[in-house]
Amino acid sequence: MSAATAIPETLASVTSFLGEEHGLLIGGHWMPAASGETFASENPAKEDTIAHVAKGGPEDIDRAVKAARLAFEDGPWRRINPSERGQLLWKLADLIEAHSDEFAQLESLDNGKPLVIARAADVALTIDHFRYYAGWATKIEGETIPINGLPGSVFLDYTLREPLGVVGQIIPWNFPLLMAAWKLGAALACGNCVVLKPAEQTPLTALKLGHLICEVGFPDGVVNIVTGFGDAGAALACHGDVDKVAFTGSTEVGHEIVRASAANLKRVSLELGGKSPSIVFDDADLELAAEGVAGAIFFNHGQCCCAGSRMFAGPKIRDELVERVAEIAKNTKLGDGFDPETEMGPLVSREQYDRVCKYIGVGEEEGGTVLTGGRERPESLDRGYFVKPTIFTDAHRDMRIVQEEIFGPVVTVQSFEDLDEVIAKGNDTAYGLAASVWTRDIGKAHRVAAGLRAGTVWVNCHNVFDAAAPFGGYKQSGYGREMGRHGLELYTQVKNVIVNLT
Ligand code: NAP
Ligand code: MG
Repeated sequence: MSAATAIPETLASVTSFLGEEHGLLIGGHWMPAASGETFASENPAKEDTIAHVAKGGPEDIDRAVKAARLAFEDGPWRRINPSERGQLLWKLADLIEAHSDEFAQLESLDNGKPLVIARAADVALTIDHFRYYAGWATKIEGETIPINGLPGSVFLDYTLREPLGVVGQIIPWNFPLLMAAWKLGAALACGNCVVLKPAEQTPLTALKLGHLICEVGFPDGVVNIVTGFGDAGAALACHGDVDKVAFTGSTEVGHEIVRASAANLKRVSLELGGKSPSIVFDDADLELAAEGVAGAIFFNHGQCCCAGSRMFAGPKIRDELVERVAEIAKNTKLGDGFDPETEMGPLVSREQYDRVCKYIGVGEEEGGTVLTGGRERPESLDRGYFVKPTIFTDAHRDMRIVQEEIFGPVVTVQSFEDLDEVIAKGNDTAYGLAASVWTRDIGKAHRVAAGLRAGTVWVNCHNVFDAAAPFGGYKQSGYGREMGRHGLELYTQVKNVIVNLT
């Protein structure tokens, strides 16, 4: 085996981190859960336990919310000026960068994704995200507004853009570190205090991030991290002293969050599931499109909210496109995330594996044809939650596998004749998160982009993200936009001040 293909050793610092007792970060201190309970985090490629983590519950959430409230109302955070807030975020990005290899290894071990992807995508985007919002900390401005006032009087009207206060953030397991960054960056740039609840399957990189947050010098209680299960998330969503909850995850839990938020009418932003179409026209660059639509669904093993899980192929190129994508699927190397040759790791958990396999079975029962992939375990892998990249032909709108989010490497193929038909078909689910369009005709690309009810439309690409580009859903894919200037709106509120100058 050459050096380039050698499987890297686990770093000593990672091994030592895994062996630590992982507490909750509350008020600047690490502590066990009130119940004293812990839970195991596992490596889904090997199905073995890699760390034990404190199992925070409602009581811990309450402690964390109190710490965040104290930090927001009485702590030094309010007196820290915008430039210093920005510098803290920038320093955090520098520190993450200095620990990039550790973060990448932890993410790969905890989530299963290939190490090279964790390093080049998750960690790199996380660093960039914190730097981007570091810049915004000094640019959150109000406005002056000319108002009529009363006859004979002169008024000055201006607005202040103020933080919301205590923000609860609940994140999923598909991009654990990056989702923490998406949530924390804007919230902290705007001056809020946070209680973060990572997913139970992947708590480790958020905990590592917590250590760096303490090291950088964010005041105690500004960021609190409570690892735990759904009951901890639910306690955060219904807590009477939380001003806003930001959630990324399933649409089902999204509904529960909205119901729970009603208790004190807290603000809510939701980034939920998707059933995003990849639309390939007859005039597309077929090589680019085949690589692109394969990547759209198989990247991160299909565990992307914006995965291109419904492929639409024009009548003239359908057979060739499907054949090309099937070749890519068949040649995808599945394996342990640390193996540099691995292109696709395992799904995150047994539960997710069972769920995806069940959907493949449902697709077969519904009359879909498995062109490649399927439920059988890949040869040569006798453990780990591996599912082969799977393509269903003979798919139609009334199938569950066409309507419901599978969140695994499973794509359906449908045909279309013309532009209006494919826009209608593309829009024909409860979701509206993203879409991609593949064509050489620029006019067609813009017409389809305008017709699709989706928060992001990619043209001749898919899964391109940037801290400056807003992301979020139409319809049941959620509300609010993370990233870019729009991300600030999720974490500020406007105060209008009217001054009588006469
Ligand atoms: P999930 O239940 O929606 O989990 C997301 C986060 O919400 C986790 O931190 C979870 O904690 C927490 N949570 C669970 N129940 C809650 C409740 N009642 N109130 C508040 N927070 C709660 O997602 P999942 O069960 O891990 O995955 C199921 C499906 O959701 C996937 O197959 C996929 O379709 C979808 N999903 C979508 C995204 C996305 O990015 N849009 C991400 C993940 C999953 P625990 O981890 O402790 O349960
Ligand atoms: Mg894990």
